[in-house]
Amino acid sequence: MKKPALTQISELVATGLVPAEHARELAPVAEAFRIRISGEMHSAITAKDDPIARQFLPDTAELTIRPEELHDPIGDVTYSPTPGLTHRYPDRVILAVTRTCEVYCRFCFRREAVGEEGALPEADLEAALNYIAATPAIWEVILTGGDPLVLSPRRLTALMQRLSAIPHVEIIRFHTRVPVVSPARITPEMIAALRARPTTYLVLHTNHAQEITPAAQTALKNLAEAGIPLLSQTVLLKGINDNAATLETLFRTLLRNRVTPYYLHHCDLARGTSHFRTTIAAGQTIMAQLRGRLSGIGLPTYVLDIPGGFGKVPIGPGYVEVADDGYQITDWQGGRHAYHDPDHS
Ligand SMILES: *Cc1c(COP(=O)(O)O)cnc(C)c1O
Ligand code: SF4
Repeated sequence: MKKPALTQISELVATGLVPAEHARELAPVAEAFRIRISGEMHSAITAKDDPIARQFLPDTAELTIRPEELHDPIGDVTYSPTPGLTHRYPDRVILAVTRTCEVYCRFCFRREAVGEEGALPEADLEAALNYIAATPAIWEVILTGGDPLVLSPRRLTALMQRLSAIPHVEIIRFHTRVPVVSPARITPEMIAALRARPTTYLVLHTNHAQEITPAAQTALKNLAEAGIPLLSQTVLLKGINDNAATLETLFRTLLRNRVTPYYLHHCDLARGTSHFRTTIAAGQTIMAQLRGRLSGIGLPTYVLDIPGGFGKVPIGPGYVEVADDGYQITDWQGGRHAYHDPDHS
């Protein structure tokens, strides 16, 4: 039996996930950042401090706002030509089609933009589609939110048809957590909606193997068998997945389910999330431990979205250093080797 979704502190208290004496101090947290734990994730929680619970249960630590934390950590608004649309790189845009999610992750990099009900207003969608149609450099449209798969298959089909009518848009990419946190939404109708366009990619946000329930595995299988390439993005989270063994298990689980790990994100500077953030040095050490120990197809790129909207870049670890007469290369076990480019002149 699936348990119900949880959205109120009173429900968290009633289920025993939050002690009654904490309800009062958590009220301002819930006021600042909405709570939602989907039925699937509620059912998958085995203890109130396990890796799933810690991602979704409100914590008074969220009220600690550090000076470096930002309202718009990755500059979504700075690079927004029309509401809901962000155009940072020439060839691709992200379009936030809704502000709703099936779960509200406590470390969400868009936590100040998500949580309201409803899809992007029709006038804003119209303006975004007009901008895309008028900008031939845009080759790829990334649908995000919120979570685009909270929209109905009927709504998504209509949106896909409008995007398909723009000849220079060749790729549509969905950024979503739904196949894992709410796999029942991946119905044949939903899959048909995603395929309404020849080249659809789906990038799954997932952070721990415990999230990949049997129902999630079925949803991923159905998506893969429909011919939709599946990639993943994971946020490096202190106390949840910040060690090589946990990430190795997650990435092996993803590969087994035909999902290719794409990005490991350094945790963005969203307000009230410092208790989740590791150092970059810690992330580099984990990535170095994974190289050689895990199949290359299971190794994502470790990236930082540079605060202020400067885009994402790989942040190592580095294996190449410039030396006096060539390079010093570090191998996967830490050994160092001189390398010289062959002289072709
Ligand atoms: C993350 C992001 C993308 C996608 O970047 P990729 O490196 O192609 O995955 C595109 N536009 C914006 C504004 C982004 O934040
Ligand atoms: S599913 Fe994505 S957009 Fe929604 S709360 Fe989690 S990280 Fe934020």
